[in-house]
Amino acid sequence: MKMAKTLVAALVCTTILSTPALAAKDNGQALDAIAPEGLSTSEPAPANYDPSLKKANEAIIMPEANPIIVLDPGHGGSDPGAVGNGIRESDVVLDIATRSKNYIVANYPATVYMTRIADTTLTLGDRTTYANNKGANFFVSFHINSYTTSTPNGLETYYYPGSTNGQRLATDLYNKLKSHYSTLRGVKSADFYVLRNTNMPASLGETGFISNYTDATNLKSSTFKQNLAVAYSQGMHVYWWGF
Ligand SMILES: [Zn+2]
Repeated sequence: MKMAKTLVAALVCTTILSTPALAAKDNGQALDAIAPEGLSTSEPAPANYDPSLKKANEAIIMPEANPIIVLDPGHGGSDPGAVGNGIRESDVVLDIATRSKNYIVANYPATVYMTRIADTTLTLGDRTTYANNKGANFFVSFHINSYTTSTPNGLETYYYPGSTNGQRLATDLYNKLKSHYSTLRGVKSADFYVLRNTNMPASLGETGFISNYTDATNLKSSTFKQNLAVAYSQGMHVYWWGF
């Protein structure tokens, strides 16, 4: 585990990163720089990003109301995300997010939107603009990790530093997802673009490593992806309704 901790900063699929220095935190430990490919430090915040609304939404919990949820399958189109062991992150996360939407609308009184429903290219700004326009109550971004060696594996979820509701969302997702992993990497904070520029509490899940044979094999399984989709959905249910 100690070795794994030293590797973690380089693991996150990087197109959603903003500043490596802030992202390289793990329970307060400073870590090494994140792999540079796909960094998006230059993309400006979307025009409809509203810091005061983001702050206000930290205080708002309305379990009596039906939530508006935006699900964000990462990458897509010209950006496949992580690729390895015969699969592409963009395809895997679209599958899981679509399954999650289907589960939620079939079982919960919620309105669910997805930032993409096919293999299309979106900027990070497109994703957050969409969520802000929908007035979502919370936002969940779906990703798969990767690393330059095949050993690292397992689950982690993220929230924006200082976001109490984001941390609660990330923790609720993690607690439902964790039974599907033997390696639990933790609930972490990071200054990811999509977490920073959404007006509502947000979380980002990294459900396994495409570079790890066992994780990738699981992520090829429809049953496993359905299990993750249900776990994500149940975590969202706990976040909003408290059980
Ligand atoms: Zn990703």
